[in-house]
Parts: sequence; structure tokens; C-alpha cells
Amino acid sequence: MKKLLLAALVFGIVSSYFSQNPANYVMGNTGVINDAKFVEDVLENQYPGFKQAVQNAFDNSHQFTTKSGQVHEVNVVVHVVYSSPEINLPDSVIFNQMDILNADYNRQNADSVNLRSIFEPIAGNPHIHFNLASIERVSTTSTFSLGFSGMPDNVKQSSQGGSDAWDTEHFLNIWICKIESSFGALFGYAYPPAGLSNWPSGSEAPSPELDGVVLDYRTIGSNNPNVYPNPNGGNFDLVGRTAVHEVGHYLGLRHIWGDGGGIFGGESCGADDGMNDTPNQGYQSEFDCNTSNNTCIDSVGGQPDPNDMPDLIENHMDYSAETCKNMFTLEQAMHMRGVLENERIGLLDNTASVEKEELELGIFPNPSKDIVNLFAPNAGGIISIYDNFGRLLFQTSVKSDITRLDCSDWAKGMYHVTYTTSASVINKTFIKE
Ligand SMILES: [Zn+2]
Repeated sequence: MKKLLLAALVFGIVSSYFSQNPANYVMGNTGVINDAKFVEDVLENQYPGFKQAVQNAFDNSHQFTTKSGQVHEVNVVVHVVYSSPEINLPDSVIFNQMDILNADYNRQNADSVNLRSIFEPIAGNPHIHFNLASIERVSTTSTFSLGFSGMPDNVKQSSQGGSDAWDTEHFLNIWICKIESSFGALFGYAYPPAGLSNWPSGSEAPSPELDGVVLDYRTIGSNNPNVYPNPNGGNFDLVGRTAVHEVGHYLGLRHIWGDGGGIFGGESCGADDGMNDTPNQGYQSEFDCNTSNNTCIDSVGGQPDPNDMPDLIENHMDYSAETCKNMFTLEQAMHMRGVLENERIGLLDNTASVEKEELELGIFPNPSKDIVNLFAPNAGGIISIYDNFGRLLFQTSVKSDITRLDCSDWAKGMYHVTYTTSASVINKTFIKE
């Protein structure tokens, strides 16, 4: 459960609890003195230089980037694992999601103008660009459920009806599926890299091939025909920022309130996200856009700080409404770049070749004129090819890694290749020229 609490969107749990226990629901509380800062001030009085030592420790842990301004390129593989047609999102929705990621990670989002002016000085630009390398589509009968035993990582394993990751050292893998949860809505989750000082040890993926981001299909893009129902009525207004938030976790960011309040209420101004420039925040926003939220008041010398900032509800790492979010801070941007230059440096190695066993079904050349090669390393499966009218043109059981096929007398157009193994079905297309 720890990973769920830290890294996942658990709005459903929280909201259903509070709807039953409204008296426990304390938000926008302006009377809370920041106990952590108070202790820090006392220590500074006793031991001059204490604050600077803390600052140095933070700076070291951030691995601040020395390459500011240079755009870091990250290759992305999107796996769509579907058990019904609506989950099998069209390419247009996935392309739209990539555009949203690239806008938000380069501060080119049109709604960046909505940031309150007091926060303009701390708005950061991560300068990270995501390239869509492939969309893997896998039909399945498996379900992907959040349970007491953990996260639905079976979506990442073809042996369990999911889709195997491409080499997670060199690719950001994003799995799109329907996330089942009897606890409430889980929009998505991600594992941070190992070894970050702002995360508890053991927060990373259980094994490298399970690293990446999982998103519910209803959260993808701003042009998604599917809605995500709100348990309190209506639908969540999701505009593609669940992916922005989860990729933030994947690149080492914590929730802006530091996860101190717990999911069952209470505020904690002592918990911190490890960023100096995010205002101290005692509790998450509630998918709203409440600019009056100020859950912690900083102290100076034991007195309330007259320069105390309100909660930064525009931040991607809060739980404010997705239409309310529009920024990362300078330190968050630097922290993510630092992660790319250290813990996740393999992602920047764009010359890395895709190793054979990581491809589940390769088709080349594509488009093809006369010979098409079907690369399918999992011997024992069946390859079928259909035309646009659904007519079966070719079928064979896979006996070697590469199946050569002469299509020289086929009509020009698009053909659909289905690769079926005991665990999954992969659908791809190729063009006959
Ligand atoms: Zn989160």
C-alpha cells in the first residue's frame, strides 16, 4: 500500500471517506503553523549555519542540471492493452496525449497564462521532449486490478495477458488499460527511480521490466470520447494531465503536499516534497481549483511569515482539477532533468538499438513492395493476415524468429497482421505499395 499512497491517484478512497465523514474534512485551514519550519528556526538559533547545511543537502540531492536549456529527448513506447473496443483508443487520442505531454514539459501549454502572478518567478521549464517510438496494441481477456496485494503490474507482462515492456533502460513505457479498483478511482500510477533522497527507499519498480507509467484509458488526451465517472456524480474533467502527473513521479517528483496528511484526513505541514520552491502544503487539493487554499503558514522566528504563499494549486503534482494545473516549478524542472542525467540516463541514449527479444512483433520493410518479413520471437504463436474487408489471406504457425512472405501479387493497400500466442494477441498493420 505504501507505493499506492505515494505514487498513485487515490481520489476515490479519499472522497468516499470524506463524503461519509464530512466533519473530518478540513481544507483551506489557515490556522496551521508550520512545525517543521519552526523547529528549523529554533535550531538555527542554537546552531548558526544549520539552515545553510540543510540547503546544501537539498542542493546535493537535486543533482541540479548543468545543461539548462538543452532539450532532453525521451523515446516512448505506448502499450494499449484492451479487452473491449473502447479501451483500444485510436491513434489520434494517443497523438493528442503526446502533444499535451510535450506542451506541459516545455511550458508551451496555452493555459500557462492562468498561473497566478505571485508564482510566475518560480515557474520552471523542464525542456523535456517525448518522441512516440511505437504503439503496441494487445488484445487480452485479463483484467488489471488494484488490490491489497499491490499494483496491477500484470499489464506489463505478456505471460499474464499484458504487454511486455520495451527495454526500460532506454524507453519510457506507458501502458494504457482499464484499471479496475474496488477501492475507488485509480487514474494511474508510476514508480520513481531508485536512489532518490526525496523518496523512501523501496519506492522504485519491483523489477526493471515493470518500470514505467500505467494510465487508465479514460484519462488519455483531451479528445478522448470516453469519460471517467466521478463517484460523487458527473464525470471528472480529465484533459490529459494524469499522464503529465505520472511522468512527473516517474522522473522523481513527489506530490506537492509531501504525502504527509495521509489518505484518511489530517494535515501535515511537516511532510515535504524535497523542493525548496514549492510552498509548504499540508494536504492535497480535492480536484477543484480553490485559490483560497493555504493549508500551511510558514513561520519566521516563531511568528507567522508575512510572505507566506498560498497553496500552489496550479502545480502538476497536486490533486487539483486537471484544468487548473499548468506548471512545474524551477526546482521540479531541474530535479527531473537531474534524474534524466543520472538515475535514468539510459533514456537519453537515443542511439540505443532495440534488442531483438524486446520486440513482440516486427514488420519490415513497411511499406513493403514484394517481400514482407514478420519478426515474432515467441515461437509457437500464429500469424494471420487480413485485408481491409476482414478476409484471411495468410496464416502460419511461427517456426522461426522471422517469417518471410511474398506479397508481390497482393493489391496495394493496408493489411492487418494478428499475432496470437497463448497469452495475448497483437495487432499491427502494414502497407503494401
Ligand atoms: Zn501522484
